[in-house]
Amino acid sequence: MTDIVLDRIAVDDAASSPERAAAEIHRQLGTLTGAVPVFEIARALDIEQIHQHPLRGFEAMLLTAPERDFGQVLLNSNSNPRRRRYSLAHELGHFLCTWHRPSAENRFACSRGDMVSPVGSAQHIAQEREANVFAIELLAPRHLVAPFLKRLPDLDVILALHKRLDISKVAAGRRYVGLHHAPLALVVAKSGQFLYAERSAAFPFLPFERGDQLPDLPAIGRDGPTSEVTDADAADWRLHRPPGQLFCQVLEQEDSHALILLQLDVEEDE
Ligand SMILES: [Zn+2]
Repeated sequence: MTDIVLDRIAVDDAASSPERAAAEIHRQLGTLTGAVPVFEIARALDIEQIHQHPLRGFEAMLLTAPERDFGQVLLNSNSNPRRRRYSLAHELGHFLCTWHRPSAENRFACSRGDMVSPVGSAQHIAQEREANVFAIELLAPRHLVAPFLKRLPDLDVILALHKRLDISKVAAGRRYVGLHHAPLALVVAKSGQFLYAERSAAFPFLPFERGDQLPDLPAIGRDGPTSEVTDADAADWRLHRPPGQLFCQVLEQEDSHALILLQLDVEEDE
């Protein structure tokens, strides 16, 4: 790929919101077909060095100054390449959002938790969430996700999105349900226990807490890696009087993790 050239001033002008900053980058990039070239984008926006080393307890670090005239990013080489792409996009979000305050002098150090559901002070939570919004808007912009939303909801569509955009299955699934107009929820589980969920605006709240045992899940067939879409009992999923029949599909992942797609079949008003 030829070097990318970006107008940093125009990106900075849009950086009052992470969504607008990512949109401005995509406006300048024009039409993309495959994965978003996040390493080239970071370099074009004054991230001068990107190093990869084994890190303990952190996924990525950003070294910079309050003026943001330069940046250096360190990525955890123990993590898979898709996670590193996300981590770099997240650090670029901190770099462009100049009100984000470093955790130590001139240094942002971000953990895996910061990149999923940050905890800590209000300022920390707010800026980690903004960096995550920027990362997903950059790596999975709405115009590249839109074609996938037109197909019938299925974990295989999420897998196709994950491959096309070179993002993790979880990131693809969260983005997919987050943008979908149908009532969908994605549950991330480990060893049959609830970790967290993301849902579309049309799906009701799922009253589960981290560690809660989940209902029995559909079996994975020989054709794997996803199960059939099967009927599920709404009461088992703690949904009282849901507005339609509940369906469930599961994708087994490594380390006893699973992604579960729940969907409600609701009669649409004409
Ligand atoms: Zn962060």
